Amino acid sequence: MPITLEPLPYARDALEPYISARTVELHHGKHQAGYVERANKMLEEAGLGALTLEEAVVRARTLRNQKLFENAAQAWNHAFYWKSLRPGGGGEPHGAIAELIARDFDGYAAFAGELRDAALGRFGSGWAWVVVDGSRLKITTTPNADVPLVDGVRPLLTIDVWEHAYYLDYQHQRAAYVGAVIEHLLNWDHANAELAAAN
Ligand code: FE
Repeated sequence: MPITLEPLPYARDALEPYISARTVELHHGKHQAGYVERANKMLEEAGLGALTLEEAVVRARTLRNQKLFENAAQAWNHAFYWKSLRPGGGGEPHGAIAELIARDFDGYAAFAGELRDAALGRFGSGWAWVVVDGSRLKITTTPNADVPLVDGVRPLLTIDVWEHAYYLDYQHQRAAYVGAVIEHLLNWDHANAELAAAN
C-alpha cells in the first residue's frame, strides 16, 4: 500500500508568527510531498510496496539502499516533525516527559539549552531529536535524512534544521528559528504519547 502524504495536524497558518504559512505550504506540499512520491516509486520498483513507511525506512537501511533510505526516512521525519509542533506549545513541559527531564537533565532550562545547542551545532542539514534510549531521555542529532529509530532508539520530538525549514522566515538565523520552536511550538502532548507507546 503506497505511503501517503499525511495531512498537516493543523491549519497551514497555525504556527504563525513563528513559522509562516508560506514555509509550511512549501515544506509540506513540496519538500515532504516530493520525498513521499519518490519513496513510493522506489518501493514499487524494489517490490517493497507492501511495507509501512517505518518498515520501509528500516528495510532500506538494512539493504543499504541509500536513495530509498533517504526518501523514505525524509517522508517519516517530516510527518514526525509536524506532530512535534503545535500552536500554543513549547515552554515548560508537562506529564511524563516533564518527570524524565527532571530526572535525566538538570531541570528544564538545562534541557532546553542542550536541545538548542544540539540543533545549532548540527553542521549543515539534519535533525535535532529528543529520544528515549532504553529508559533514558537523551538529546541527539542526525545529518541529512538519518533517523534514530534505525538504531532502535525511539524519537519523542524532532526539530528540522534543514535550511528549507526556516530560511524564508529567518534567513540564515537558525538560532532564532530553533529558539522560537523550543519556546512556542514543541508539542509535549505528542512527546508524552510517544513515550507511552514506547513503554
Ligand atoms: Fe524539512
